[in-house]
Amino acid sequence: MSFDDLNLIFPLQRALSDEGYTNPTPIQESSIPHLLSGKDMIGIAQTGTGKTASFILPILHNMSASKKRVRPKSPRVLVLAPTRELAAQIGDSFSTYGKYTRFKHTVVFGGVGQSPQVRALFKGVDSLVATPGRLLDLVDQGHVKLSDVEYFVLDEADRMLDMGFINDVYKVVALLPKERQSLFFSATMSPEISKLAKKMLTNPVTVEV
Ligand code: AMP
Repeated sequence: MSFDDLNLIFPLQRALSDEGYTNPTPIQESSIPHLLSGKDMIGIAQTGTGKTASFILPILHNMSASKKRVRPKSPRVLVLAPTRELAAQIGDSFSTYGKYTRFKHTVVFGGVGQSPQVRALFKGVDSLVATPGRLLDLVDQGHVKLSDVEYFVLDEADRMLDMGFINDVYKVVALLPKERQSLFFSATMSPEISKLAKKMLTNPVTVEV
């Protein structure tokens, strides 16, 4: 299969061609069609498999197709990541794959000053990548609201649990609209992780690579 077969919008195809990517990786090949059709998904995949593009590409495609305004005040996409390094990497991938779209994104994480993050949110973003604790701080202070989120991604769910962020994740999920597309990625599956997945997904497909 080549990326051409997925019929992604031209701005995404062009960005992929800039990267020199012609063929989707296995996780991309199995997940992108499901995600384009709007399904919730559990992806069991390690970092390095191309999982970031497997969610960014269909989300940006579907966002472009919907008639909603570009650049609203509050984000339409929320990606939660356990560490600032991962959050920053996901932000870089939004820059790479989204460079020919009109969408804006920003990344927020703890351990650094809040002011630049608050300014970026104030300008308005389509997609927000966040670590859970800093996100909740910003929500509590009224700098961002999550009531417009249409696409929710929980990345590295197993690490979220290991790092003790699970209560924060539940708090974030409680703030999201019920009607949304949710994706859940984990390198491993355990009963505790399945329980978490069940709580935040509706009729998910499972993709394992
Ligand atoms: P990830 O698993 O998302 O961290 O991605 C691992 C690496 O694979 C990143 O450096 C990506 O830029 C790269 N990558 C993602 N998709 C493809 C693809 N279809 N072909 C070649 N490389 C890719």
